[in-house]
Amino acid sequence: MLKDKTAIVTGSTSGIGLGIAKALAASGARVMLNGLGDPAEIEAIRAGLARSAGVEVGFQEADMRNSGEIAALVTETARRWGGVDILVNNAGIQHVAPVEDFPEERWDAIIAVNLSSAFHAIKHALPLMRQNNWGRIINIASAHGLVASAQKAAYVAAKHGIVGLTKVVALETAQSGITCNAISPGWVLTPLVQRQIDALAANEGLAAQAAKQRLLQEKQPSGEFATPEEIGALAVFLCSPAANQMRGSNLSIDGGWTAQ
Ligand code: NAD
Repeated sequence: MLKDKTAIVTGSTSGIGLGIAKALAASGARVMLNGLGDPAEIEAIRAGLARSAGVEVGFQEADMRNSGEIAALVTETARRWGGVDILVNNAGIQHVAPVEDFPEERWDAIIAVNLSSAFHAIKHALPLMRQNNWGRIINIASAHGLVASAQKAAYVAAKHGIVGLTKVVALETAQSGITCNAISPGWVLTPLVQRQIDALAANEGLAAQAAKQRLLQEKQPSGEFATPEEIGALAVFLCSPAANQMRGSNLSIDGGWTAQ
């Protein structure tokens, strides 16, 4: 379905972004991976995905805190493959602390990576999408874009912000073949969440499995994690013609978290 389309997925060396990159590649899209990490491990991911999906897969190590590097990610992808059709703004980081103790450097980094990077990437990718009058912009928000949790000031602010940005871009592209939507996962067992499970286990003296159950019990009525594969399948659906008139939507995939 996505043969001859070019996708950029930010933060796709791990977790949800990698799940989305795999799903887009399995649907035939060329994929530009991005993210931080060990170069040899990233190259193994890139080459493995290219081989298994039979599509071209690239990697560019743009730091999502840096607007110049984000611009280069978009322009380099377009230079290599002739355009950018699908942009998934997924890169994200977390820090947990009460607001009065929240380190300013962590606030700035979370707003930069989880919110401002999406603005910069959209700003540069949109003119390329307009050239073909087709595009898909998918912003990975969170249940924390709809509701809050204590000790997550920067993350919740950034995720509420990206839901707003999604709506604005959807309106500005409403009369075109370009759509912009958000996906809002609940708990997905990725390195970002594993760190929170480890902290919970250490703070409360819990075994790993008990800490996982506690995390789910607090928020996610299904008692089960959503998976990167499920988020990837939803992203592919948003790229399909069936989603042509989905514009500015925020799709929850959260085991009932925000239904409460
Ligand atoms: P993860 O830690 O597994 O992956 C994060 C990715 O972002 C990695 O590829 C990492 O290299 C990249 N990244 C981090 N900082 C970067 C930077 N400065 N520049 C470029 N890349 C950078 O996390 P994840 O859980 O897969 O999270 C992916 C997205 O999903 C985030 O936006 C997160 O907020 C969101 N999300 C996650 C969950 C969850 O439960 N895991 C729930 C809701 C939303």
